[in-house]
Amino acid sequence: MRVRVVLFTSDLRVHDHPPLRAALDAADAVVPLFVRDTGITATGFPAPNREAFLADCLSDLDAALRERGGRLVVRSGDVADEVAKVVAETGADAVHVAGGVSAYAQRREDRLRAALRDGGCDLVVHDAVVTCVPPGALTPTGRDHFAVFTPYHRHWSAQPLRAVVRAPRAITVPDGIGSEPLPQRPAGTSPGLAQGGERAGRARLTAWLRSGIAGYEDGHDDLAGDVTSRLSPDLHFGTVGPVEAVHRAAAAGGPGAEAFVRQLAWRDFHHQVLAARPAAAHDDYRAQGDHWRSAAAARHDIEAWQEGRTGIPVVDAAMRQLRHEGWMHNRGRLLAASFLTKTLYVDWRVGARHFLSLLVDGDVANNQLNWQWMAGTGTDSRPNRVLNPVTQGKRYDPDGGYVRRWVPELAGLSGAAVHEPWKLTGLDRAAYDYPDPVVELADGLARFRAARGLN
Ligand code: FAD
Repeated sequence: MRVRVVLFTSDLRVHDHPPLRAALDAADAVVPLFVRDTGITATGFPAPNREAFLADCLSDLDAALRERGGRLVVRSGDVADEVAKVVAETGADAVHVAGGVSAYAQRREDRLRAALRDGGCDLVVHDAVVTCVPPGALTPTGRDHFAVFTPYHRHWSAQPLRAVVRAPRAITVPDGIGSEPLPQRPAGTSPGLAQGGERAGRARLTAWLRSGIAGYEDGHDDLAGDVTSRLSPDLHFGTVGPVEAVHRAAAAGGPGAEAFVRQLAWRDFHHQVLAARPAAAHDDYRAQGDHWRSAAAARHDIEAWQEGRTGIPVVDAAMRQLRHEGWMHNRGRLLAASFLTKTLYVDWRVGARHFLSLLVDGDVANNQLNWQWMAGTGTDSRPNRVLNPVTQGKRYDPDGGYVRRWVPELAGLSGAAVHEPWKLTGLDRAAYDYPDPVVELADGLARFRAARGLN
């Protein structure tokens, strides 16, 4: 009996899964395998919100495989060692896996290839599973990656996408392969955390295409409207495949679909930057000579930012949404990141780490490179832009509904007045139990401009 192993990583689905399809086509039986990678645990990357979402994803993947006659095999340990063990137990002649982009994923792939070589087993790496366009597939002349989004997007849009792969009808798993129990949701998660799993993700995608996407172009920055797809955790864990999302959005058509697909191109863009410059996960992509405030000097400000009590309502609202849901609106992320890095002049790595400790979609490529973009050390062609949270609050939360939802202390203030509670005087002000701003916005701006030598 010919056996192949399918190693699931950031692609926890049965629909549109080229590695699973290829293994089933080539073998009589497959081992759908997930390894709880102790190497990742050691990096401190796992966070309760993502662990909980992952537990949902694995249990749903197991259920989908069982419906088709198979099951998920779960092991823990070093990925290369565990895969090699399963190969030895089953006599598999090939392992199929989706290509990854981070330095960690690239090292894991190399080690896996080496571990399998001795046993005469092939490693088949599939592109266009985690991203639509594989990193490195599009390059400007003489360079190994695109550093500017607009030309990348132009090429990306002209690139033919592979067809969607149908979910298999039947799966045979060889007898006698041991599995650990599926992981359980840990404690300590955000109370408003979304449900994980392919079924929930596909339902979100379908509902979004039916009733959300049409309003996306106009509404995507509306903080209170909250009309974005919320598919980021599904795309991060691969319960929704990006290729299928693009095909289905394109079929829906219209300006909303175009705007949504453009965001998926941003996702590919950051992935190709990280694949080419893995160090951008921790080093400045384009250093600006910053001497960030030390963690000790900025401790009070950093804590206020993390806890959502900076005294800047829209920033506090965003930070509290993050803690409550393990997710934050994109406009909130931009404002929170601009405020930390530019107004408070705190190192982007401090903010990126905090986001990763809570975000259910926390993703090295998207998180670190968006932080770098906002800090001006990344791919933004205007690295010194500073977002004014009051102006932006009034523009993107004009009625103040987002702030009132997340900062109930200010719920008594109507309309856009909620963005400037410091304008209240006397008894009016005393009625609100809400802190003064940790910094005057003008002072923060002046400090940043001086630090970057812009004066
Ligand atoms: P939609 O607006 O519906 O967009 C659809 C999809 O496109 C998203 O699910 C996402 O996969 C992708 N996308 C959208 N915007 C971006 C972007 N700017 N960069 C890359 N991909 C994008 N996104 C993450 O997935 N993980 C992160 O860890 C992450 N950290 C961020 C940190 C900061 C400081 C900033 C400014 C942005 C970050 N983003 C991150 C990007 C973006 O904010 C989220 O992808 C988006 O808010 C998720 O909501 P949605 O699924 O409703 O997005």
